[in-house]
Amino acid sequence: MLLAFTGNGKGKTTAALGNALRLLGAGKRALMVQFIKGPWESGEHKSVSRLEPDLKIIKTGKGFVGILGDDLPIEEHKKAAEEGFSIARKEIAGGKYHLLILDEVHNAIRLGLVPVSYVLAFLDYAKDKVEYVITTGRDAAKEIIERADLVTEMRDVKHPYQKGVKAKVGLDF
Ligand code: ATP
Ligand code: MG
Repeated sequence: MLLAFTGNGKGKTTAALGNALRLLGAGKRALMVQFIKGPWESGEHKSVSRLEPDLKIIKTGKGFVGILGDDLPIEEHKKAAEEGFSIARKEIAGGKYHLLILDEVHNAIRLGLVPVSYVLAFLDYAKDKVEYVITTGRDAAKEIIERADLVTEMRDVKHPYQKGVKAKVGLDF
């Protein structure tokens, strides 16, 4: 089953983690592979050690693409995205995980780091390896929306950022 969390409102990555937490309660295991995200750590990277090996998070990105001082060639970002998929392929091969989260993969597609056809082929591969795949990120490709069994769009109604409030530790990262 494919679940896609998309839209410009806050809550996509945290909803995926919430689902992982729920799944662990059923005695199952979850892996989150994160695309694009750089070397910086969010709260979940620190707290996940308490839940390993049932929940594991692997960061594969090189940080922001084309914005906020990014001076890496796009090829480096593409290579990192491909590495992300190759890690995911290996990790789920043995049937160890029930849920695979491809965090920010919609953005990786949108930014041209990986073709949507590649992601669809990966989803074919993952079909009999995991029970659920969750994809997250703004602006999911229509091919992903068509393939998904469940799609939720987080819509930005209001965010403190718009009043100039900076990202808060424990809430935003
Ligand atoms: P979260 O990780 O909090 O669930 P998300 O995965 O939906 O958020 P992303 O697009 O991945 O959102 O962006 C991650 C960061 O950007 C988070 O710190 C989040 O709080 C912030 N963010 C998300 N949506 C908005 C928004 N509409 N305006 C400003 N900041 C946002
Ligand atoms: Mg996110």
